Amino acid sequence: MGELCYECFRGQSEPCKDCPWNAESNEHATQSVIYSARTGSWYEITCLELDWFNEGPCVLFSGHPVDEHSRSLFTSLSEPSSYDELFELNLTDDAYKILYHEPGKFTTPPLEGRISDMFPDVRDRMIHPEDRDRFHAFWDFDTLLDRIEQAGGALRGEFRKHLESGAWSWTSLTVAPVKRGGSGERVVMCFIADIEEEMQRRTDQAERSQIQLLRERDQLTGLYNAATFYDKAERLVADMPDIAYDAAYIDIEHFKIYNEWHGREAGDAILRAIASRIGEIARKHGGIAGYLGGDDFTLLLPHGLIDEKRVESELKKEPFDSEDTIGFQPAFGVCAIDSPDVSVVTACDHAMIAMNSVKGAYTKRIAWYEAEMTEEMETEAKILLEVKRALTNHEFVLHWQPQCNTRTERIVGLEALVRWQHPSRGIVMPGAFIPVLERNNFIASLDLYVWEEACRHIRSWIDRGGVPIPVSVNISRADLYAIDVVEALEGLVSRYDLDHRLLELEITESAYAEDEKMADAVARLKGLGFTILMDDFGSGYSSLNMLKDITVDILKIDMGFLARQDQSQRSESILEAIVSMARFMDLRIIAEGAETKEQVDFLQGIGCDYAQGYYFYRPMSTEALEQLLSQDGIVDYRGVLNPSMELIDVNALLHDDMVSRAAVNNLIGGLAVYAVYAD
Ligand code: C2E
Ligand code: CA
Ligand code: CA
Repeated sequence: MGELCYECFRGQSEPCKDCPWNAESNEHATQSVIYSARTGSWYEITCLELDWFNEGPCVLFSGHPVDEHSRSLFTSLSEPSSYDELFELNLTDDAYKILYHEPGKFTTPPLEGRISDMFPDVRDRMIHPEDRDRFHAFWDFDTLLDRIEQAGGALRGEFRKHLESGAWSWTSLTVAPVKRGGSGERVVMCFIADIEEEMQRRTDQAERSQIQLLRERDQLTGLYNAATFYDKAERLVADMPDIAYDAAYIDIEHFKIYNEWHGREAGDAILRAIASRIGEIARKHGGIAGYLGGDDFTLLLPHGLIDEKRVESELKKEPFDSEDTIGFQPAFGVCAIDSPDVSVVTACDHAMIAMNSVKGAYTKRIAWYEAEMTEEMETEAKILLEVKRALTNHEFVLHWQPQCNTRTERIVGLEALVRWQHPSRGIVMPGAFIPVLERNNFIASLDLYVWEEACRHIRSWIDRGGVPIPVSVNISRADLYAIDVVEALEGLVSRYDLDHRLLELEITESAYAEDEKMADAVARLKGLGFTILMDDFGSGYSSLNMLKDITVDILKIDMGFLARQDQSQRSESILEAIVSMARFMDLRIIAEGAETKEQVDFLQGIGCDYAQGYYFYRPMSTEALEQLLSQDGIVDYRGVLNPSMELIDVNALLHDDMVSRAAVNNLIGGLAVYAVYAD
């Protein structure tokens, strides 16, 4: 209703001095009794700290009038059992009377006398030394009545009082004024009650809630830990049947490397930043945030709140807007909890699966879970079981994707890409089984098979009188740990009697960057005369860093990283810079994933002479390839050439761009330009 509690409850214009809620205390629930002058009666008040849907942390304040059945301390002030001593103090006359006291319990002053005599005696003999100052201030008689009024009709204090047994016991003192006819005498009653047990309970509770806090929350991030998150999230979903929720899973890409590069403290700072961001979002929208350890977070929010725009705008904020965090962006997976049988745990698992589909993809930071994702996972064991049979049955076949000259469109090379011709499932793409085999260290047996198939085909083309085109095959990092890659490849080329230059080896950038063993193997393979291609260059986080000490022959640049729309201007410049740098380092370049005419034109414009992509050809079967190659003039048998000066496009020199500036600035001596017609 917009009214403040003290306005509506007590008709006061100012907050109550005896407010039953103490925000500073560690307790999450308190109970007390206060007096409302507005209604003229006592209320038992419960204050409860909770997360209120849509509002975040709230204090729920509920009160009901003290009634005869209540076991409250103040049940009925006329009932002696609820207090241990009752004093009547006549401030006007400086006189007091003890109306009641529990025999033999507390040390008491004489049954009646002058307040000014009794008070110092009680304070100095019957009140615990540590409480004396507070007791003295509590009984400041000059201001007592004002304070009672301000407090809404009764003043309460808690002090340790001396027992006849010699020990101390916590007591509560409640002082309330009594109206006496019209005489204007200032008389108050003081009820004193033993609250030792309650105090004990309260300390226990405070300790318990402190322990609970430690047990429920992660120390580093302050978020709920896994057990608490799942528990609270399940309960929230169950309690709010009318609200649909989404579970999100968040993980930071390459977080381990970030820790290594920038130190653990910087890593912790990133974790805390994410924690505070998602904690805030959860609070704002009535959700729950959790930290599962490592770099894994979870978030439960009402359905539809997590979308690309929001994720994108969150990632534009500190600390993810800084250069240090390029390549270390969080990935989001989301799964809707759309039926009562989906538990939060399952939804989070599904969200994690969705999240994994985003990892490594630069253009995408968020993915929604789809049932097929699990189907894929569920078949993982099946895939592993079937691979052996598939290998012996020759179910794996090679498809070939040509690499082309961007100007002449002639074919300069082929990439061998494996396909699984599954007896019941049809053609299965490598994305569905290669990662499974890699994860389980089964990839080497497949790769050996693929490499051999590639060699066998090259041999057969030569034997049938054709001029062979170089074929590149893929090498997984896991191969290195399973077999002696150098020995295996060397064995193959000698067995099929092939020139080393005909078998090219594609190794992904990340494998190269993260692995010394790989760098070592690459050096040996290069020494043997193999051509090495660095695959997916530009998709990783260290591309530009790596350029200076690269030892490969050809960079395959992933055009996918041009696709990031808001950055396309910037990535075009990066691509252009890579191409110019490569040019002056004698590195050859193939752009991968060229799908449109515009992309190919752009590649030409920046002097990138080779590309592989749907614009030219999709991967095709051996029959389709052989048919294609039988056409005249379709192949450029020189292969992928160095983008050295004599091959530079004349246009590149005439345009005012990075390439022409770089070329012109680096040209020494004269320049002859001649045109070549019909190649
Ligand atoms: P990759 O080595 O980067 O291969 C290029 C992938 O990009 C191929 O997918 C190819 O079909 C696809 N591609 C080619 N042009 C375009 C284009 O214009 N647009 C788009 N969007 N995509 C294009 P594919 O055949 O599904 O292979 C996926 C990945 O599987 C390969 O990526 C490679 O890492 C792995 N792979 C394939 N065959 C083998 C193999 O025999 N051994 C190993 N270890 N990995 C393999
Ligand atoms: Ca490849
Ligand atoms: Ca690639």
